Amino acid sequence: MSGLVGYNAVITGGGRGIGAAAALALAEAGAKVSVASRNEAQVVQVAAQLRENGHEAFAFRCDVTDPHQVRDLAMSASEAMGRIDILVNNAGTATSNRISRISHAEWQHIMDVNATGTFLCTQAVWNGMSERRWGRVVNVASTAGLSGGKYISAYTAAKHAVVGFTRAMAEEAVGSGITVNAVCPGYVDTPLTDETIARIMHHTGSSREDALSSVLEQAGQPRLIRAGEVAQAIVGLCHVGAHAPNGELVLLDASEPE
Ligand code: NAD
Repeated sequence: MSGLVGYNAVITGGGRGIGAAAALALAEAGAKVSVASRNEAQVVQVAAQLRENGHEAFAFRCDVTDPHQVRDLAMSASEAMGRIDILVNNAGTATSNRISRISHAEWQHIMDVNATGTFLCTQAVWNGMSERRWGRVVNVASTAGLSGGKYISAYTAAKHAVVGFTRAMAEEAVGSGITVNAVCPGYVDTPLTDETIARIMHHTGSSREDALSSVLEQAGQPRLIRAGEVAQAIVGLCHVGAHAPNGELVLLDASEPE
């Protein structure tokens, strides 16, 4: 696939999981990529691996909750690649807790990383995309952005914010050459899900197998989604041409067989 040759992408939270898979898929589609994360070692490794495979890739340290670091990222990635055409707002984090145990700091952190980070990064690239009359913004939301779930109220609220922001920005983008869409996956096989399963094992004393089964059952998923499947959906939303989708929420719930 080479549909994105000549286009430059920034992927936040690109050091592992869905972000690293999206960076690879975009690079394989021909894009130059900049991977950014608050964990610098992870993105340096991802970019090095991409370069080893013949792709053009850069790594930047950036905590998406910090407006100064986000501005620096937009500037540095633009300088390195020439400009930013595609933004994948993937950086995110999750916790699970019943409401009585959620501290204000925990609530704020979940909102900051998932929702405010998405706003700050989009704002930082928006003017450049508008001036060039072309841009693709893909937000990594979740099925938790579309419906509620027990013990994940902060994450659910934050991902609903991402979905609302996607819908509003898609309207704001009409006629600008920019499109704004989101992917909404269920549970994906990534380190974040491993952490969720480890938390359930810790709280309930259940085995890994039982904890995974209970997560899948509650989500109504026959299996975990692969990060590569989410990455392909992200690439699809970066479509170049007249039929580029705008304002779409792509649901990935593993209902299709592998
Ligand atoms: P992950 O924890 O495996 O990776 C997340 C990456 O984001 C890491 O590289 C981490 O360092 C980075 N990150 C975290 N906070 C950051 C910050 N403040 N600034 C910059 N980078 C930061 O997670 P994942 O499972 O790959 O999830 C990626 C995205 O997909 C998240 O937005 C998550 O909410 C969403 N999502 C995940 C699942 C799932 O089941 N794993 C399901 C639906 C949606």
